[in-house]
Amino acid sequence: MHNVVIIGSGCAGNTAAIYTARAGLKPVVIKGLEVGGQLSLTTEVENFPGFVHGIMGPELVENMKQQAERFGAEYLDGDIVEADLSQRPFRLNHEGKWIETRTLIVASGAKARWIGLASEHKLIGHGVSSCATCDGFFYRDKKIMVVGGGDSAMEEANFLTRFGSSVALVHRRDTFRASKIMLERAKANPKIEFIMNTAVEEVYDVSKNLVTGVRLHNILTGETWDRDVDGFFVAIGHVPNTQIFKGQLDLDPDGYLLSHGGARTNIKGVFHAGDVQDRIYRQAITAAGAGCMAAIEVERLLEEEGH
Ligand code: NAP
Repeated sequence: MHNVVIIGSGCAGNTAAIYTARAGLKPVVIKGLEVGGQLSLTTEVENFPGFVHGIMGPELVENMKQQAERFGAEYLDGDIVEADLSQRPFRLNHEGKWIETRTLIVASGAKARWIGLASEHKLIGHGVSSCATCDGFFYRDKKIMVVGGGDSAMEEANFLTRFGSSVALVHRRDTFRASKIMLERAKANPKIEFIMNTAVEEVYDVSKNLVTGVRLHNILTGETWDRDVDGFFVAIGHVPNTQIFKGQLDLDPDGYLLSHGGARTNIKGVFHAGDVQDRIYRQAITAAGAGCMAAIEVERLLEEEGH
């Protein structure tokens, strides 16, 4: 029987692990499918306090893990595939083996959203990617396209100019969700071409099992045209990882965990931390803060209950 299981090994989960481990609770962290969370997919983090010259995302998250391990946190590979939160202790199916825990911190984050085209899906890993940091390297001197109008799209487009011969940024509107600084940085980059009011209708070429181009559609004029592309990066947001909690934890219509104040969910002993609940701020520092809040809730509850 564990005191606390933490699902997710991003900023939120790692910070919860540091705090609960330091409190002597021997937390067990389930790493999840995206080990290290979104930070492990990013490059330089310039706005995490304490790093004057910035730090690489993967290094930051790895440091947090090692910090938690120093105090006794245990990290397990794999994911929780099923959860029974109907009574305490909670029961969690960890890759086929059921484990029990007095408290649970859900820090399972959110995964990349896709446009939803059949061709896009079939070509994932064959020219279609949701992670510039992971796959940009493969497109040296190649034609790259990025889809999206938020900070992720700006960041990916900028990063990909290090590799590609050209980077086309396709956005379905002519206004952006991206922050001013990120948008300006992308606009100032001469290697980025902006294609606005445009949707991607098709990714070619499934028959070759390789991305060779796309069909684009101007939403305002109705014009449709083809364009050669080698690397197709989708950066259109994320979907929260809450599927296994449906019907047990309160979720909003998009699947994000609903907070019941502080780090509390609708079930006593289950707490939330990070992007799985936060659709507004979604920063490394806010996720870390949320992990800390969830850990303090766990400590207080277990102490109250005499564990
Ligand atoms: P986002 O802000 O939600 O932007 C998603 C973008 O994708 C929007 O422009 C949206 O278009 C577009 N989109 C959504 N579904 C689409 C579809 N089916 N087809 C085509 N386009 C679609 O997501 P994000 O850029 O991933 O950013 C998420 C959060 O992380 C934000 O708070 C952001 O500030 C933060 N972030 C920060 C940094 C940084 O500071 N370094 C880096 C990355 C992300 P519409 O605008 O038309 O809806």
